Amino acid sequence: MSMVDEVSEKTGRYFPHPAVQRFTSGVYPDHHALVTASQDTLKENYPRYSRFGTPVTDAVEQEVTRLEGGYGSLCVCSGLAAITSTLLAFLRPGDHILVNRSVYEPVRHFINTYLSQRGVSATFLSSSEFMECDKFLKKSTTLIYIESPSSNVFEVTDIEFVVNQAQKNNILVVMDNTWSTPLLMNPIKHGVDVVIHSASKYLSGHSDAVAGIITTTEKYFSPLRKYLMMAGICLGGEESFSIYKGLKTLGVRLDTQANSASKIIELLSYHPHVGTVLAPQLITHPDHCTYNKYYKKYNGVFSFSVACVSDKKRDEFLAGFKIFKLAYGWGGVDSCIIPFTLTHFLISDPTQLFFRVSTGLEECDLLIADFKNALSFL
Ligand SMILES: *Cc1c(COP(=O)(O)O)cnc(C)c1O
Repeated sequence: MSMVDEVSEKTGRYFPHPAVQRFTSGVYPDHHALVTASQDTLKENYPRYSRFGTPVTDAVEQEVTRLEGGYGSLCVCSGLAAITSTLLAFLRPGDHILVNRSVYEPVRHFINTYLSQRGVSATFLSSSEFMECDKFLKKSTTLIYIESPSSNVFEVTDIEFVVNQAQKNNILVVMDNTWSTPLLMNPIKHGVDVVIHSASKYLSGHSDAVAGIITTTEKYFSPLRKYLMMAGICLGGEESFSIYKGLKTLGVRLDTQANSASKIIELLSYHPHVGTVLAPQLITHPDHCTYNKYYKKYNGVFSFSVACVSDKKRDEFLAGFKIFKLAYGWGGVDSCIIPFTLTHFLISDPTQLFFRVSTGLEECDLLIADFKNALSFL
């Protein structure tokens, strides 16, 4: 018994956090305990081997399950691993899937290369095409994958409509809910079967961990867990603890970051150099109505464009930011900005340069001043 356990035993007071146990194997008192543990192919009987779970990983899974209103959750080593392993667990050669066209680029790449080489075909749809997704279904369609609001452009899919079509045709619906976090939207409550989060973003929230979490309904939990155990996809205690801590401040972080984002959006909306502002809470966003149907709040991530300028001017603009960091990540406590190109779809407007912004927890007035300063270089 550890000292902590002893204190808890004596006083009945428990420390509020599960311990980050650094271990690979559990140690058995005798042969009988060893046999009992090894007969348990799942992770009920840990600590057998930490690939099957650690106390803090389990605590994170329970909390995300509660927040999402699911049956169970599983932590994995990245958001991308959460997505690819879900697809691998449920797809077979010959299957066809529907995917939103503005999906996170590495997911599109995985589908178009790895999955297509193994006999899985995909049709990519816009949010408005999803409103008639029955037209795109084939006999072989077994899964619909939706990221909403989607990366960079925040296309919002009417999830209840899609779920309705899917249920009629016995199709699994998977949704990447990373942008929303479990606080803005709970897809399972709208009939989605499997919900995915990259915990590297808002959930851990401090840009200090790469991790993913998958939450499912009862029907899909056991098959998914079996696959992850078989494939050896798991998450270590350190990363889990970062999510555990992040979840405790998620609500206040989101509120503050959303507030700063809305102030900057206001500044940009009236700025002469700014072309478009892309944020689903704006009435000018094409999916604003769908957004209002499902979401009451928003977060600190949005995109905007400025009229094309020379490379030199663009570099001066970006160098003009003293607080916003030039970085790909988002959802952390540090404000970030990154240019992106609208590739094969959507508003591919060659006259505009696009940027994605994620507001952090720095003082709002300083963030606004930082933006004003950078914009003065355009
Ligand atoms: C970042 C991101 C992922 C991938 O997550 P990682 O933890 O970086 O692997 C997946 N989906 C969305 C929407 C993301 O933004």
